[in-house]
Amino acid sequence: MQQIPLVDLKAQYHSIKNEIDQAVLQCIENGRFIGGEPVLRFEEQMAGFCNLPYCAGCGNGTDALEISLKALGIGKGDEVIVPAMTFIASAEAVVNVGAEVKFCDISGDTCLIDPLAVEKAITPKTKAVIAVHLYGQMADMEQISKIAKENNLFVIEDSAQAIGAKFNGKGPGHYGDLATFSFFPGKNLGAYGDAGAMVTKDEHLYATFKKIANHGRLDKFGHEMVGRNSRLDTLQASILSVKIKYLEQWTRKRQECTLIYTQLLGKLKNLTIPKVHPQANHVFHLFVIRVDAAFRDQLVKFLQSKGISTGVHYPQAVHETNAFNDMAHQSKDFPEASLLASECISLPIYPEMTKSQIEYVCSYLQEFFND
Ligand SMILES: *Cc1c(COP(=O)(O)O)cnc(C)c1O
Repeated sequence: MQQIPLVDLKAQYHSIKNEIDQAVLQCIENGRFIGGEPVLRFEEQMAGFCNLPYCAGCGNGTDALEISLKALGIGKGDEVIVPAMTFIASAEAVVNVGAEVKFCDISGDTCLIDPLAVEKAITPKTKAVIAVHLYGQMADMEQISKIAKENNLFVIEDSAQAIGAKFNGKGPGHYGDLATFSFFPGKNLGAYGDAGAMVTKDEHLYATFKKIANHGRLDKFGHEMVGRNSRLDTLQASILSVKIKYLEQWTRKRQECTLIYTQLLGKLKNLTIPKVHPQANHVFHLFVIRVDAAFRDQLVKFLQSKGISTGVHYPQAVHETNAFNDMAHQSKDFPEASLLASECISLPIYPEMTKSQIEYVCSYLQEFFND
């Protein structure tokens, strides 16, 4: 029996082991572990990758959202619109700056934040919308930017799952005021620990990110505001600097995997494969299929018994979690988000995945649905 993981970080390490080892050893040898040239170099590479002038590193993707909200001046008394289906961090960050989350539904076919639902969720207190580019596909940023402009809202693009993605040829941070990224190890560009970043075209916003993430200062003791400690550490920056050079190639490999999946699964009646918007370049952080909720958990167990790991992203919509169940004064009716939570399964996908591994996974999906 084969063993197929959801992602294979070991295989990726071994494909670039020499370069990574050298970068890590060099960093330790240099004896500088906070800031320094490796951090500046990675920030420059990342800004270049995003085709934007500014990138500021930080501790992780959740901090990136919090720092962004703070930098935009969002806090007590403000509302921020967040899709009901996302990783909980998108909503946590809003609560942690003292503002209020206003959930909205997703659109059933793309699984992404629904622009019409955003429009309906706006109140006089709304200051921003967090557009989450879930699973590796960007939300409809043409429509979201239009709505935001008409209503004087900031747009934060939570791009933790969508590094390298495009909508209408433009990547995260081009439509919105800024985009945030996570380099959590399992993300498309993963560090060997926690790390994150913000990118923007706005110089002032960039300077504010830098200050907030480093105790409110730009030089050693010039504390201009109360900030925090959320820095991209030097060791992680050194690793990311090596890995970002391979990112485009790895993204193409992921996309090739999805072509094989689509070929083998596209005709199965009881299963829905991901829908890609015609204007989107989807980078497939996750390959999420949908099956009838009645046998989703059974399918997960069946695949596990064949050595195939899967994920559920996510088993509950955010408004359904205990963390957010005290929002009695708000609508709790986000049917598309709830339905997706009950139907989704993430199949294994990673750049090193072979055609025969995909065929192995698909053969058991075919077997499951043909009985
Ligand atoms: C991973 C993720 C985050 C948080 O990133 P961390 O680096 O784990 O803090 C935020 N939003 C989304 C959509 C994510 O997938």
